[in-house]
Amino acid sequence: MELRCSCDEWYHTQCVNMPDLEVDLVDQFICPVCMQSNPHLHLQTTYKRRCFFGLKHTDPSSSNACHKPSRGAFSKYCSDDCGIKYMQMRILQWERGGGKRDKLWESVKNAEKREGVVVCADVKMEIDRKPSPAPVSAQKRKADREIACLNTRLENVVKEREMMKREMDMVLWREKLVKLASERAERVDECGWDQRLCFGEEEWDDFGAEVLESYEEKAKEEASDDVMQVDGITTSHGEWWCTGKKKCERHAGWQKLRVAEVAFDKETKETILSTLTTREREIRKGIEDILYPPSTNASQAPSKPSLADPPLNGIIKPRINGEAVEKGKKKKS
Ligand SMILES: [Zn+2]
Ligand SMILES: [Zn+2]
Ligand SMILES: [Zn+2]
Ligand SMILES: [Zn+2]
Repeated sequence: MELRCSCDEWYHTQCVNMPDLEVDLVDQFICPVCMQSNPHLHLQTTYKRRCFFGLKHTDPSSSNACHKPSRGAFSKYCSDDCGIKYMQMRILQWERGGGKRDKLWESVKNAEKREGVVVCADVKMEIDRKPSPAPVSAQKRKADREIACLNTRLENVVKEREMMKREMDMVLWREKLVKLASERAERVDECGWDQRLCFGEEEWDDFGAEVLESYEEKAKEEASDDVMQVDGITTSHGEWWCTGKKKCERHAGWQKLRVAEVAFDKETKETILSTLTTREREIRKGIEDILYPPSTNASQAPSKPSLADPPLNGIIKPRINGEAVEKGKKKKS
């Protein structure tokens, strides 16, 4: 299973230590990257309230225990089924604890009544949890969170592009090396394959510039007739090139092959780089749009309804509350 963070990255549950059973309970998943890169925002994955029957299971973390979310303000159970099962369990416990059969019916009736009261309590808790949400701060919180996630994405894109640029530098280096080696091979009428064309990133890092310079030195050496007398240098640079005849058995056609390879790499990386640049621009624009919303929309546009912000706030809750309180009162009297 996978979870999506608001930064748009997907995570395997096992990679973020999330038991698969708990996935349904996740309200808003915050990935480790977003958490770490925004310590001041104290971001944390939020959870829905779990079905009460599941919570009260003898082994709540077993897969037999219900792991569905409760119906929020409407019930602390995920379903009528779980509500009934929970009550049955309670009755059984009551019986085991010495409760008498003849009193059981009363108890069941009471349980039903209490359920009405419980709903009321749930609603109250729900309200307590979000004390009169000041719309500005809630909006700001949401904006902060979005910016945090966008910043994380931006960081990742920038990092990725820097890596890609580095790889591109290496391709350009190789392109130059192919050219130098080909020219030299032509001039000295040898195979001229340069082993350093196989250099990986580390070697390129350490010796890249030196490799290109070695061609100048080598050319000087080869121009002077007394190669033998500068033997020290000859050995230090000479071992890289194949001294076989043109089209030697081991390297025949290396020039064409390498040119094609470099061209392909260059094109691929250019495409990736431009994609990353576009993405970076989009993210930056997204951040700007949050920080400086277009003035045309400044006239308090109604916030879009979303899953994270159920539009219950002003309308439905008081009604449920009223009903529930009434119910409770009626039954009590
Ligand atoms: Zn994230
Ligand atoms: Zn994974
Ligand atoms: Zn349940
Ligand atoms: Zn060769």
